[in-house]
Amino acid sequence: MKSINPYNNETLTEYKPHTKEQVMINIDKAQKVFLAWRETTFAERSRLMTNASNVLKVNKRKYAEIISLEMGKVIKEAEAEVEKCAWVCEYYAEKAEGFLSDETLEMPENKEAKVVYDPLGIILAVMPWNFPFWQVFRFAAPNLMAGNVGILKHASNVPQCALAIEDVFREAGFPEGCFQSLLISSDLVEDIIKHKDVKAATLTGSENAGRIIASQAGDQLKKTVLELGGSDPFIVLKDADIETAAKTAAKSRMVNFGQSCIAAKRFIIEASVYDQFLQLFKKEIKGMKQGEQLDEDAQYACMARRDLAEELYSQVKKSIDMGAEVILEGEKPIKGSAFFKPYILGGISEDMPAYKEELFGPVAVMFKVDGEKEALRIANDTAFGLGASLWTKDKIKAEKMARKIESGAVYINQIVASSPYLPFGGVKNSGYGRELAEMGIKEFVNKKTVSIG
Ligand code: NAP
Repeated sequence: MKSINPYNNETLTEYKPHTKEQVMINIDKAQKVFLAWRETTFAERSRLMTNASNVLKVNKRKYAEIISLEMGKVIKEAEAEVEKCAWVCEYYAEKAEGFLSDETLEMPENKEAKVVYDPLGIILAVMPWNFPFWQVFRFAAPNLMAGNVGILKHASNVPQCALAIEDVFREAGFPEGCFQSLLISSDLVEDIIKHKDVKAATLTGSENAGRIIASQAGDQLKKTVLELGGSDPFIVLKDADIETAAKTAAKSRMVNFGQSCIAAKRFIIEASVYDQFLQLFKKEIKGMKQGEQLDEDAQYACMARRDLAEELYSQVKKSIDMGAEVILEGEKPIKGSAFFKPYILGGISEDMPAYKEELFGPVAVMFKVDGEKEALRIANDTAFGLGASLWTKDKIKAEKMARKIESGAVYINQIVASSPYLPFGGVKNSGYGRELAEMGIKEFVNKKTVSIG
C-alpha cells in the first residue's frame, strides 16, 4: 500500500497490507478490549478523550504535514482540520455522559420505566481520503465515548493518516486495540462485516461504496450509517447581500480544492442579480493562489489523485461537448497529473454530467432562474440531498423555503459547514443516519428500555 504525494507523484512510503488472518486477530483483540472498555466510567473515557485532543493540538503541524503531503490539501487547511478534530474530541469528552444518561419515561398509573444507552461493541468505519483526519475523528470521538471500540478501513491512498490516527489514541492512553487502523483494500470489508463480533458499520464515501456496504451489512442484519456524496445547491435571491454571497460561494466551491461532500456545487441565482453575482464569484475564484501544499499562502495545490483529476475533467469535457458554456476556462490535467485548474460552466441542460452527477472538484455550475419556485425546482432536481445554502435578507421567506429543500441541512446566509454541535447527514442518495451532536452519539448504541414492575 503506497503513500504517494499527488503534487509530484513521489512515493512517500510503502506498507505491507494486513492479511485476512491479521485482520481476524485484530478483531479478536478489539472484542477483548471492548469487554473491559464498556465497563469504564465516563470520567475515565473523558480523561482519555481530552488527552487525545491535547495530542492533536501539540502535534498539529506534524499531523497537518502528513495530511497535506499525502492527499494534496494546502497546509493551512490541514492545520484547521487537525484543530477541528481536537474540538470534536473535547466536545464529546464534555458532553457524552449527559447525552447518554438514562432517560426516564412518562408512564401511566405510576409505573416506572426508562431508556438506557448501552454500547454495541466493535464498529467498522470505512472512510474517505478528502478530510482524512476529520471524517475519522467525527466517528471515533462519539463512539469511543459511548463505550464502543473502532476499527478503521481508511481509503487506500492515505495509509499514513490511518496509522497517525491510531497513534493519537495510543499516545492519549487508550487501551491498545480500542481504535485500530487496518491497512486493507476494500475486498476484505465484507469478511469484517460478517464477523460475529462486528456489530455495525459506517461509511463515508461514494454512492457506489454505500450501496455495496449497506447490502453486505443488511445481509447480516447489521446497522449502517451512510454519509455519501452531495451536489449541494447555493441559492441566491435578488434581495441577498450579493457581495458576501459571492465571496462565500467561491470559498464553498473551493474548500479542500472542491473535494468536499458539502461544497456548494450548483449555483442557482435569481436573474436580476445573476450578472453581478457571477462577476464577483469569477473574480474570487480567479484570484485564488495555487501553490505547493506546504506554501503558507497557497489556497489550493492539486487534487488528491491523478485519476480523480482525469475523471473530473472527463465530466467537464462531456458537458462542454454537449453544449455547456465555458465561463471560466480551467486547464486539462496533463496526462498522469493531479493538477487541475478551476472551471465555471453555464448553459447547463438536464442530460449533461454537470447537471446530474456530483462534481467532486473545483468546477462550479451556474443556473439563472426567474424566482423562488424555479430555484427550488432546480435545487431539488438531483439524486442527492446533503446540504444547501440559501441567501436572502427575508428570514421568514428563508425559513419557509428551507422546509421545501430536500436535504439533510439548510444554512441560511452562510456556508454549509459541519460542527460538533450540529447533526450532520443526508437524505436521498446522500445517505442516512446522522453524525455529530447528540444524534450522532446515539446511532450506535442499544437504546434499551428498562421497565420496572
Ligand atoms: P469511495 O471510493 O467510496 O471510497 C471511500 C471509502 O470506501 C474508501 O475507504 C474506499 O476504499 C472504500 N470503498 C470503496 N469501494 C468499496 C467497496 N466496494 N467495499 C468496501 N469499501 C469500499 O469514495 P471517495 O472517492 O474516496 O470519496 C469521495 C466521495 O465521498 C464523494 O462522493 C463524497 O461526496 C463522499 N463524501 C461524503 C461525505 C459525507 O459526509 N456525506 C464526506 C466526505 C466525502 P479504497 O480507497 O481502498 O477504495
